[in-house]
Formats: sequence, structure tokens, C-alpha cells
Amino acid sequence: MADGILGARVGVLGGGQLGRMLGLAGRALGLELTFLDPTPSSPAAATGELLVADYTDAAALARLSRADVVTFEFENVPVAAVKQLEERGAVHPGSRALEIAQDRLNEKTCFRSLGIGTPPFEAVDSWEQLLAALASLGYPAVLKTRRFGYDGKGQAVLRNEEEARAAFERLGGAPLILEGFVRFQRELSIVAVRSSAGEVATYPLVQNHHEGGILRKTIAPAPEVSEELQAAARGYVEKLLAHLDYVGVLALELFDCDGRLLANEIAPRVHNTGHFTIEGARTSQFENHLRAILGLPLGSTEIPEPCAMLNLIGAAVEPGAVLQVPDAHLHWYGKEPRPGRKVGHVTVRAPDVATLSERVARLERLLGA
Ligand code: AMP
Repeated sequence: MADGILGARVGVLGGGQLGRMLGLAGRALGLELTFLDPTPSSPAAATGELLVADYTDAAALARLSRADVVTFEFENVPVAAVKQLEERGAVHPGSRALEIAQDRLNEKTCFRSLGIGTPPFEAVDSWEQLLAALASLGYPAVLKTRRFGYDGKGQAVLRNEEEARAAFERLGGAPLILEGFVRFQRELSIVAVRSSAGEVATYPLVQNHHEGGILRKTIAPAPEVSEELQAAARGYVEKLLAHLDYVGVLALELFDCDGRLLANEIAPRVHNTGHFTIEGARTSQFENHLRAILGLPLGSTEIPEPCAMLNLIGAAVEPGAVLQVPDAHLHWYGKEPRPGRKVGHVTVRAPDVATLSERVARLERLLGA
């Protein structure tokens, strides 16, 4: 590595908005980032060198492996590519965490083995298995592809056999998982970070609102969180970090069922529900991820005052209008707006919860949410 961290080189698989925000944090730390992404217009290109190639391209992987440490910002990169990079140098988090997170069945089996509560689930590889799983879990249930699902894609809620048949026809070409439908009160997540020196820090629980499977809003910290609930979430995520010998930021999505937490999924990377940390926490998840993978001391995860994050989905906004809201901060990812596509986000802070609610309502009116 270069002298100290100044000029240390970080390679990143993926060059989307998460890469861009990692790049912005990295530049402040004096790091040099190189991204690998097949898309020439990748948002991260504004913050570092972009190698435009397939994730399995041998020459591109060789170039990426010249970095002092490699990480990823995209969860569906091929595990084989990460394993190749691991043979040549440090990759954080490693292929093991990625392998588990890429497959919902592995993920839920891992939760179960660690004593982490999870919705009831069964593997489904055929119509007969689906019928058997429905007989044991009952309706309603959620049928999901085991791999490559994101933002609510690759899943369906089943209320009866007719819906089961239609969903199986649509999704059944791939290995599936059936989950019991959880009547949760709210969705929460916890972002945690572990450094290569073994230091661990967790951000407070946040509350998330999804529409059509896509995250719309995060409230940080989540309201009405007892010490027990926070401790339970921290306990879950710390178990995962230790079990996976994990280095970097990890997000755990949870369902809150009357104070009982059920784990839905993990993201082995910086996460949309942690975007608020850029202005809302003492240290952003992006900076902490970089500190962690470089073995540097972690920064405080405290949230000094209430804040919220609103995703900008599918359309551009009028920056002047958004920024009229006090303490609102706009992040634009430089992506072409398309329906359902996350093109930016707004973080807003306030001195108290009531003022935050007013500011969020004002922003939601402006965004047509
Ligand atoms: P996922 O892709 O697994 O994160 O699911 C997207 C969204 O679907 C979640 O954020 C929940 O709102 C909902 N969802 C997923 N799994 C379940 C479940 N087992 N029961 C009820 N709702 C679910």
C-alpha cells in the first residue's frame, strides 16, 4: 500500500450509485478508486477510473487486482470473479458472504443456523414441491426466485392456488423459495461495519417504507425503538459479522412483528437504507466501509439529530424546489431517468421529530410521492 492511506488504491466491482458515493468518500480520504462495470455511462466514473468490461473479463480483473484492496458495490457480480481476485490479493467482503447473500435459501438457512429469527421458508424446485410447501406454510405466502431478485423483482404474493399456478409459470424456470407471508408492523434495517482489524460498529435501527418492493423512504433513527429491540438487532448483525468473518459494511433488513425481529435479507455492501448517513450520521457508511477494508479506525455511527432519506425514483426533480426545504440535501446519481429506476435521493434533517415530519411531508408533496 502507498505510504499511509494517501494514494491507497481501492478496486470496486460495480460502478453504480453506490460506487459513486464510495468514490466521493474515497476522494476525501485521498484514495484512488478504480471501478469495473460493463456500462460505459456508469455513475461512479465521475469519481475514479472506470474499466468498461464484463465482470468476468480476465484482463480487467487483472488490472483491478493491482489495487491494494478490492471490494464490490453490486451484489450480483459473479462469485467466480471475486474468487479469482481473492487469489491475487485482499477482497473485502469476501466471496463467502457474497455466495450466501446471492441465494435467498442459503441466506435464510444461515440465519436459522445462527438462531436469527426468519420467516418460515421452504425450498421449491417443482410444482409438487410448491404445493407441499403451501400445504405446510399456508396462504398467503411469498414465492421468490432464490437468486437475482432485487427491488421486489422476481417475487409474487400467493393468495390461492390460481395465483400459485400463475406465479409458478412466471418464475418456475429458476430455483425458488416459498416464505410465509409475515404480517409485520414495520420494516427496519440495521447497517453494521467490521474492520479488517476486527473493530465493529453499528448504526441505530432505521425504519423503511417500500412501495411495489422499492425503497421509498428511510427514517433515522427508527421511532419507538426500545433498548431491547436495538440490542436484538445488534446481536443478530454481530453474529453474522462474526460468522462470516466479515470485513466492510453489511446491512440486515428486518421485519418488526410486535417487537420480534425476523430477518428478511442481508446486503453484503453499502446499502440504500444507509444513504442518510452521508449527512445524517457522524460518519457515513461509505467512509466507514473504506476505513474498514483498509484496516483504519472506524468513525462514530451516532445520528446527532432526526433525519430521513427519500429516494428519487424514475424522474428528475427541480433542485431549487427541493433545496428550499431547510436542511435538505440533494444527491443526483447522473443516471438517465427511467420508470422504477433510482436516480437520486434527498436527505433531510431537523432538530426534532415533529419538524422532520413536516419537512418530509413537504418533500413528498414536491416529489409527488
Ligand atoms: P425482498 O426482495 O425480499 O427484500 O422483498 C421486497 C419487499 O417485499 C420487502 O421489503 C417486504 O416489503 C416484502 N416482503 C418480502 N418478503 C416478505 C414476506 N415473507 N412477508 C411479507 N412481506 C414480504
